[in-house]
Amino acid sequence: MSDLWKNKIDEYIKKREERNQEEMARLRARREQKRESNQLAEFQERFFCHICHRPSSGPFEQPDHSEVSNPGDYLGKVTWFRGYTDWNKPGDLILCEICHQYTCFQCSRKDICRTCAAKL
Ligand SMILES: [Zn+2]
Ligand SMILES: [Zn+2]
Repeated sequence: MSDLWKNKIDEYIKKREERNQEEMARLRARREQKRESNQLAEFQERFFCHICHRPSSGPFEQPDHSEVSNPGDYLGKVTWFRGYTDWNKPGDLILCEICHQYTCFQCSRKDICRTCAAKL
């Protein structure tokens, strides 16, 4: 008596599980993508140029960087800081120093927006 039919079932179960896992991975990736684009859309609703209404292209990104505690002293201690993304701060908008509103680079010059510049 051959057990071939049992092998067939094992094979079938294995294939089905592989398919399930692929499907789960695909769903996870899609969910992740959606979450990210939602976050960016919400971010862009909060941060935009108050003059031309151009939304910020993304959050402020601080890359990894180091600081020397005693510049000039070769024994100065070097501290490394991990880079981070700050979703509460736009990467490409400045705060006008007069009206304190977010302004894009095209609508500002040296931290002063076009509207305030007109009143100087
Ligand atoms: Zn602008
Ligand atoms: Zn201003």
